[in-house]
Amino acid sequence: MDLDCQACGACCHGDDGWIPVDGRDDPPAPALASHLVLLRHGALTRRSLRMVNGACAALVKQGARATCSIYDVRPSTCRALEAGSPECLAARRARDIR
Ligand code: SF4
Ligand code: SF4
Repeated sequence: MDLDCQACGACCHGDDGWIPVDGRDDPPAPALASHLVLLRHGALTRRSLRMVNGACAALVKQGARATCSIYDVRPSTCRALEAGSPECLAARRARDIR
């Protein structure tokens, strides 16, 4: 299956903390760093991509579809989700992207 992530963005939607960014991405490229936030959960602090209205702040929406504006420096969490995987296909179905 040949899926174009740059015309999709279905897996880039979620609540705050949906896309954690860990030490694999250190030091973050400036374009990635500009989209990071620290979220506190009690004594724990997590670094994540900032979410705006339920979508990653780096996502640029174009009609029903969307493009990652920092694709070349997207974090490891994003790279780990393979296009065509069960998680990918579920995200696409949830957003009615066929
Ligand atoms: S991994 Fe799948 S759901 Fe995520 S952007 Fe790529 S095609 Fe879309
Ligand atoms: S960095 Fe790019 S690929 Fe990762 S969630 Fe944000 S828009 Fe999607």
